[in-house]
Amino acid sequence: MVEERYICCRNCNEVHHVTPFDKAPEYIWAEGEARELPRRDDWRDFMHRHAGHRLESLRSVGESCLVSGEAADPMKVDYIEVTNGHDLFLIRSHRKNIAEPLSFELVQGRLAPAGVSVEVQENELRKELKHHFPWRMPEPLSDQKIELFIGLFKEMVASLRPDEIEISSPSYTDTRTEYGSLESAGKEALVERCKHHFSPLEIEEIRRFIETHVEDDGVMSLRLAKLYMIEESRETLHSR
Ligand SMILES: [Zn+2]
Repeated sequence: MVEERYICCRNCNEVHHVTPFDKAPEYIWAEGEARELPRRDDWRDFMHRHAGHRLESLRSVGESCLVSGEAADPMKVDYIEVTNGHDLFLIRSHRKNIAEPLSFELVQGRLAPAGVSVEVQENELRKELKHHFPWRMPEPLSDQKIELFIGLFKEMVASLRPDEIEISSPSYTDTRTEYGSLESAGKEALVERCKHHFSPLEIEEIRRFIETHVEDDGVMSLRLAKLYMIEESRETLHSR
């Protein structure tokens, strides 16, 4: 777990995320040489703006939690629990628009687990079906049929109960995500749905595709993301 550090102004409720970039100079590569950029010193700017205010240093006490959006979505809203040594708070991070850097905000409240979302690995699946899988048919599946297969898979997954999915492996890039295996019943249910739309030869190849990609975090495994709810407390931050 990486400990994140923040400075918070309790007068203005503004939060600065302390990063290694606060101290390191930034370079650009210009005309064959590295040039140091004029320092974009967010930390100094923050300290200057809040001179004489009540500042507190905060550190994270858990992993950050995704509350809305997907993990790879640049517009996602994340929360992380932080402490000043006495009290727990939440820091909310999000972007106002895609070109803006992340902005941080202090929120009074706690994170409460709110179940799990189950997704198919849509983009990875599409890539694999299109570019990598060695189809043994005269023609690989058309784009249209690939989309149809993904759609049918999503429909089947929507009928599964998250608590009945067996976890097969964690995600190494995102601690909030785990992979769950597609059991035999799930595989059969998917093939049954496909039978109405694909030829017997295609079905045979789809079976082979499924079997080749169900292991661990293969593209046919399911992505499970832990969801959280914010329990905001009614106390205001300024009154503390
Ligand atoms: Zn301030």
